Amino acid sequence: MVQAALSGLCPRCGAATLFETPASIALSCDRCGLDLGALERGARLAGLVTILTAAILIMLAIGIDIMLRPPLWLQVVIWAPLTLAVVIGTLRLYKTALLYRRYEAQAEQGGTEG
Ligand SMILES: [Zn+2]
Repeated sequence: MVQAALSGLCPRCGAATLFETPASIALSCDRCGLDLGALERGARLAGLVTILTAAILIMLAIGIDIMLRPPLWLQVVIWAPLTLAVVIGTLRLYKTALLYRRYEAQAEQGGTEG
């Protein structure tokens, strides 16, 4: 699952077509035409996941600031890319997990679309 999220692998054909941009799901798979947009629909929690992740990182940053008192420039250099990476990584994991679960549920129902 982590591998699938990092590489953005399609649940049906395994091609790396899942993500159009680093954090957004493509509308459909380039290779097998699987309707990814339909599977992703309803992923309204994605915004909440982003906010929660950011909140945890901010608390972590404040904690480190209190304990270690690093210079501000160092904090910016560390936290800016780290926050971006963690938020994008979390979103990818969340969206991939959701997509795979829906795809599996659909496959169990014997859906023949595509
Ligand atoms: Zn595919």
